[in-house]
Amino acid sequence: MPFEISEECLVCGVCMDECPVEAISETEDQFIIDAEECTDCGSCSEVCPNDSISQI
Ligand code: SF4
Repeated sequence: MPFEISEECLVCGVCMDECPVEAISETEDQFIIDAEECTDCGSCSEVCPNDSISQI
């Protein structure tokens, strides 16, 4: 199951640098995870300072 960024996201961008497959991208006011690209590694979830990323 891929990971998803919740509305709790602080838009800090820490997760984007962690993703090994570049599945996280930035929109105007939020970050999103491409479920097709995500390999469910959990790296982004581990570094999120606000615990805003979890599996769908
Ligand atoms: Fe990228 Fe891993 Fe997070 Fe999926 S779980 S978005 S592959 S860092």
